[in-house]
Amino acid sequence: IYTLSLHDALPICVIILAATNRPDVLDPALLRPGRFDRQVRMELPDLQGRIDILKVHAKKYKLAANIDFNLIARATAGASGAQLANILNEGALRAVRLNKSEISQADLEESIEVVIAGAQKKNAIMSEAEKKIVSYHEIGHALVAAKQSISAPVHKITIVPRTSGALGYTMQVDTEDKVLISKADALNRITTLCGGRAAEEVVFNEITTGAANDIEQATQMARNMVVKYGMPEEFGGYLGESGQATYSADTARRVDEAVLSIIKECQQNARELLKANEPKLHELADYLIEKETITGEEFMTILNAD
Ligand code: ZN
Repeated sequence: IYTLSLHDALPICVIILAATNRPDVLDPALLRPGRFDRQVRMELPDLQGRIDILKVHAKKYKLAANIDFNLIARATAGASGAQLANILNEGALRAVRLNKSEISQADLEESIEVVIAGAQKKNAIMSEAEKKIVSYHEIGHALVAAKQSISAPVHKITIVPRTSGALGYTMQVDTEDKVLISKADALNRITTLCGGRAAEEVVFNEITTGAANDIEQATQMARNMVVKYGMPEEFGGYLGESGQATYSADTARRVDEAVLSIIKECQQNARELLKANEPKLHELADYLIEKETITGEEFMTILNAD
């Protein structure tokens, strides 16, 4: 961009803008003084940011009057601007497929799952036995979440398979946007992730491959707790951000042990929570097998009924 002044006394001003999504591989020469002086970092949007981004993209579409952007934003923590734009686009496609003249809240909620978990796999046929396992697995996550006081409330549970390969999906909606999570919070989330596998253990006394992704996420979260946040205190801060190659093999072994013990403790807690609520586990899983998709309200009504 350049502007040329009408007055000879004023200098010509040339502004060069550049963007990258790989700051780690930039040539340091580019960042020397006098080159690109000012750096503006674009982080993933927070709750208010997501609401604003959704509203900007929403202008291109015809939406129902009662759209709750706040709920959509709360259900999409960690989503990028491009993913949010995609959610609206998928919502529009769904509305067109259903012969509707405007996008509804349901269209957008289904789109969150399409963008985050993959589209519904219409012709995937699950055997009754598979449906039963997936139901117990998802109710396991939801029940463990509900029984821990500070977990995000369950919004929706479904056992309709997604094209991403996920057989079921439990959607939690945070009541607030959390960037920094406490130790108790992190343990809660890991325990919720362990809930699916724990339910399979409690009911079928065996575990399926469906839990692999949960374990991966739980392990990642436990590792972050140990390496980045210095939890437990033994590792207080000295492992550094990157977490790799900056410490000895002995420390690496102790980190692995700490991660494993966190996972084991959470897995044990999840199992105990489910065992203490086994009648509800069966009742809720039966209901999910029958309905295939249930709302958070239906879930809580059954959970709180005596
Ligand atoms: Zn799971």
